Amino acid sequence: MTTIVWFRQDLRLADNPALTAAASAGTVIPVFIWDEMADLTNSQPLGGAGKWWLHHSLAMLARDLGGLVLRTGDPKQELLDLVDKTGATAVRWNRCYDPYAIKRDAVIKTALKDKGLEVESHRAALMFEPWTIETKSGGPYKVFTPFWRAVREIGLDRPLPSPAKLVVDPAPGLDLGDLALLPQSPDWAEGWDRMWTPGERGAHKRLAEFVETGLAGYAEKRNRPDLPNVSRLSPFLRYGNISPRQAWVAASDARDLMPFLQQDAETFMSELVWREFSYHLLYHFPDLPTENWKRTFDAYPWVEDAAALRAWQTGRTGYPIVDAGMRELWQTGYMHNRVRMIVGSFLIKHLRQHWRHGEAWFRDTLLDADLASNAASWQWVAGSGADAAPYFRIFNPYTQGQKFDPEGDYVRKWVPELKDLPAPYLHTPHMAPQSALEKAGIRLGDTYPLPIVDHAAARKAALAGYEQIKGA
Ligand code: FAD
Repeated sequence: MTTIVWFRQDLRLADNPALTAAASAGTVIPVFIWDEMADLTNSQPLGGAGKWWLHHSLAMLARDLGGLVLRTGDPKQELLDLVDKTGATAVRWNRCYDPYAIKRDAVIKTALKDKGLEVESHRAALMFEPWTIETKSGGPYKVFTPFWRAVREIGLDRPLPSPAKLVVDPAPGLDLGDLALLPQSPDWAEGWDRMWTPGERGAHKRLAEFVETGLAGYAEKRNRPDLPNVSRLSPFLRYGNISPRQAWVAASDARDLMPFLQQDAETFMSELVWREFSYHLLYHFPDLPTENWKRTFDAYPWVEDAAALRAWQTGRTGYPIVDAGMRELWQTGYMHNRVRMIVGSFLIKHLRQHWRHGEAWFRDTLLDADLASNAASWQWVAGSGADAAPYFRIFNPYTQGQKFDPEGDYVRKWVPELKDLPAPYLHTPHMAPQSALEKAGIRLGDTYPLPIVDHAAARKAALAGYEQIKGA
């Protein structure tokens, strides 16, 4: 039997049920279809950083498979054409869970079946599919903790190995360069290949390093952007270079072997489940990426201020921890989770910009930009989402910086113009004595910006805005 395997959010060989089933049935024709408007899975175009990751993931996948057919255009037409050209009798894929893909795949399944093909889809990108987990009263979960409690005891099968035997018969297709996924001029991703190794091998190397050196202490140190205790697996998970089940099992195996890792492994596994929860929310509330989950926020008096938004995007707000995060994002395609929460809160509450501006910027610049996690997280920070942080809990960027970057190493790395300032002033340079600023070579308003808003006044204005919608 010859089976087409349609790759999407599962760019790997191991723990890939569609590929395993196809390989055991005979010859495989692996295909990836680039759909510019719809990205891999989402209803919104893929951002620049994501395209960079996709390019390199596809290159690795093609190498590991020994061939990959690349196409561009409408997936239904491309698959039907491929069936005609190859005589394939079956098509398999692993399921995607965003509203656009669900609808698209249903149409494609029908069209292929109507042509007499065998069509099968599989679970691979999530551990707990959204429709399989429900509350006791039968509806979707809206709060994380009970969702986590509901899934944590569900036994998972061991991840599948790569197919033992793989006969690939690639049909003619495009060259990877034809997809034009890489930035041209300027090449803002210059040097990223020294920071990241997209693809399956890179993913397993990263996971192994994390289990060895980051997992011990993760529960506490995951909040510290100055420490190397988070996994940085998010872009690999986003493109399916690794499956969530592989990451989950690696942590639970480490815990079984070294019981002192109990708390750290559990916390890591619960973070993986935040990703599942985001998809649960997106599946049940498909307009999550664009609409306030709590509709009262529709009436919030947002401010439109292009200059403030630009200062935030470029890391020139005069708030060191915010600027460090935004520059880390621009320079590496990644930002630490604690700092994502701080910069998100700053944009929404200090600058009173709509969370959609933040969501859009992250979508373009994050390597891990993901429809479900990005939308759910932005709404969480805004206070407009399901199980969100209350709006009135406004992060103080100064104390957040002092608490989670106590020596200022994170700020020093990403805001080098402040690097010679002693730690006590690093998060509040505008309060440093003139002598300390001079010694560090800093001229506020010149070499580094003064705060673009006053913290106390901004906090007051945000709360006043909230008062307007509170009773609505
Ligand atoms: P680890 O701490 O090592 O966590 C392991 C894995 O668990 C992550 O790779 C990720 O897949 C998952 N995870 C951890 N925290 C979360 C979370 N809060 N929500 C969902 N999944 C989580 N994550 C994305 O993958 N894509 C996004 O587009 C995205 N946008 C975000 C926007 C904002 C405003 C905020 C506050 C968070 C966002 N997150 C997003 C969640 C989180 O910040 C990242 O998943 C995490 O920082 C990735 O780093 P890591 O792999 O080192 O995390």
